[in-house]
Amino acid sequence: MDVADIPAVPEWLPDHLRADGIESLYPPQAEAVERGVTEGESLVASIPTASGKTLIAELAMLSAVQRGGKALYIVPLRALASEKKAEFEAFSEYDISVGVSTGNYESSGEWLSSVDIVVATSEKVDSLVRNGAPWIDDLDCVVSDEVHLVDDPNRGPTLEVTLAKLRQRNPDLQVVALSATVGNAAELAEWLDANLVDSTWRPIELRKGVHYGQALHFDDGSKRELRVKSGEKATAAILRDTIADELDEEGNVTEEGGSALVFVNSRRNAEAAARRLASTTSKFLDGDELAALKTVADEIRGVSDTETSQDLAEAVEQGAAFHHAGLASEHRSLVEDAFRDRLLRVVCATPTLAAGVNTPSRRVIVRDWRRYDGNAGGMAPLSVLEVHQMMGRAGRPGMDPYGEAVLLANSHDELDELFERYVWADPEAVRSKLAAEPAMRTHLLATIASGFADSREGLLEFLGETLYATQTDGQARIERVMDDMLAYLRVNDFIAEEGGRLKATPLGHTVSRLYLDPMSAATVIDGLESAEDPTAMGLYHLVCRTPDMYELYLRSGEREEYTMLAYERETEFLGEFPSEFEERFDDWLSALKTARLLEDWAGEVDEDRITERYGVGPGDVRGKVDTAEWLLGAAESLAGELGLDCTVAVREAKKRVQYGVRDELIDLAGVRGVGRKRARRLFEAGIETRSDLRNAEKGVVLAALRGRRKTAENVLENAGHPEPSMEGVRPDPDAAPAAEVDGGDADEATETGDDQASLGDF
Ligand code: ADP
Repeated sequence: MDVADIPAVPEWLPDHLRADGIESLYPPQAEAVERGVTEGESLVASIPTASGKTLIAELAMLSAVQRGGKALYIVPLRALASEKKAEFEAFSEYDISVGVSTGNYESSGEWLSSVDIVVATSEKVDSLVRNGAPWIDDLDCVVSDEVHLVDDPNRGPTLEVTLAKLRQRNPDLQVVALSATVGNAAELAEWLDANLVDSTWRPIELRKGVHYGQALHFDDGSKRELRVKSGEKATAAILRDTIADELDEEGNVTEEGGSALVFVNSRRNAEAAARRLASTTSKFLDGDELAALKTVADEIRGVSDTETSQDLAEAVEQGAAFHHAGLASEHRSLVEDAFRDRLLRVVCATPTLAAGVNTPSRRVIVRDWRRYDGNAGGMAPLSVLEVHQMMGRAGRPGMDPYGEAVLLANSHDELDELFERYVWADPEAVRSKLAAEPAMRTHLLATIASGFADSREGLLEFLGETLYATQTDGQARIERVMDDMLAYLRVNDFIAEEGGRLKATPLGHTVSRLYLDPMSAATVIDGLESAEDPTAMGLYHLVCRTPDMYELYLRSGEREEYTMLAYERETEFLGEFPSEFEERFDDWLSALKTARLLEDWAGEVDEDRITERYGVGPGDVRGKVDTAEWLLGAAESLAGELGLDCTVAVREAKKRVQYGVRDELIDLAGVRGVGRKRARRLFEAGIETRSDLRNAEKGVVLAALRGRRKTAENVLENAGHPEPSMEGVRPDPDAAPAAEVDGGDADEATETGDDQASLGDF
């Protein structure tokens, strides 16, 4: 279908698309148009990665705006929100406005009333609905990107419920759900009363295979030699083979070298792989390329001065990079652009971002097909769907004859297994996870609290709109799960019946507004009510026991260590103390381990030391700290709501976690730009509070901050010093901190906030 023939879109669109090199629609796009996606019809599009889903979304949203309507685009990952916004801002020259709604869960985002296209995560949309954002009722078109994620046990139910609520509030709403190829697209379409485009069409042929020994084995039974040198890793060998030009017998180039995407299972592994593979890519770079890469590296350093930024820049200088949700979005786009420009020859990425990286490359190497899974307590294989999504990134349309995507096997058995498991396998069916108790109790409370339903019948009607209902035979089961959860909410005083109507109690409203699992709230309330004078450890342990905290895994051999700690500090723990012989004791100990990590952090132990002691990455420490800060904040609100005496103790514990400091530094560390290490140095130089800082001798401040003038000026300004300039000031030698072994301001930088994604955001 020629772009000029798309009905009901703005008249400038065809030219706009042509300017982007899009002359005609890809077959699945054309099919979507034929099924009415530009005319307000709902659609489920289940099509492979890189087959142009974004354009389908844009066609739907632009035609809705053209009719005077408003559109919402639900992103699967917070890290992608600003990227999508930037993409849609290409339409601002046609007077189409775009707004992104991130930020804290409690606001209703009223300013979004006036924009044409809103971009938000499903969690954010859910909370906007809960907080009664008025514009939600004005929506005409909702796009849900990566809708197959309704299958995710942690985040899926929120997406599912959000779509159900939006549809119930507005029965005429157009829903456009974009999905990877899944096993049951028709069922998704049935759920959303939508038309279906279910296609396996790709703009470029894809060959899937497995590398084993000295050869690539492909799905069509063919085999190609690919030697791994002794001492070389398979990934490096495949990368070398990808980058090298292909030569004929006379040494003429028959095909220019390409680039590769490498998928690994964690942020840390992505960084390590990029570092290692840089030694392969650097051998292929000429002078011009090195100079161009140096420029990109400088831009990367300019984004922030964190360690991650440094590491990334170092790899980029050698033609390699990593890409994950822990990077700032400017970092990510610099990497993506340089990869598209073929300056970077390899990008090592985590699976979660596989969908977000629109960076086709000749080869995709799926290096890790297992990943740590907290629920399973160990390594679990990735789903077929995820692996196929990564593989789908292979092949640059119009540039490569075909794309190649390979997994790596270490044994003949593994070669067979990988073929069975991934190469020949069909993607799984998407299954609702809403029946899981935490999801059900959270969403039932929210539904009642927001006045969405006030009776058993109303709730059942609402649940009828979910995928769960589509997939469950028999109403009886849904009713049973629901009744159990309603009883739970009633017993805990989160809901009550008034004149035959279900209502949230003030406490229930607070719990819902705080975005807590009701069971977390019940655990916290029970603990706080029993607390006379809680210690920080007691409070950390309490919040670590809630289902909203992802506990650290107790390794073999640690049971004894933590059991001893439990008895040593017995008096500090709040709420229940299960017996050593009960099964749930192990969970309780895992929470203790997590709590001790927080205690170390709030006791100013170095981050490096913490990662070593608990066998986790810096991102994990950050994740625990962020979650604990949120839960302690919630505990503070609950204590306030219930008029408990421990509110002050809870607030202090929260601040200590927030800044990673002992009591005496809370005030100082609260000054922007100070952070835990600088606060300690200032304190040692005799500056103990924010007001000390305002009146301090500048030479002392400068010395305590190791002579860094800019930092010192910044800090003084943030503390409200009347004259922060450091011009002509000399560091006071008596106030200089003693030399430190780690020599580092390194972790100060992370505190100023490098887009720290939440746990689970890879
Ligand atoms: P997906 O979201 O399905 O993974 P994208 O929407 O990111 O895929 O599209 C992949 C690439 O294909 C983008 O660079 C996009 O500009 C390009 N593209 C999309 N539709 C067309 C088309 N009809 N003709 C040419 N290129 C297209």
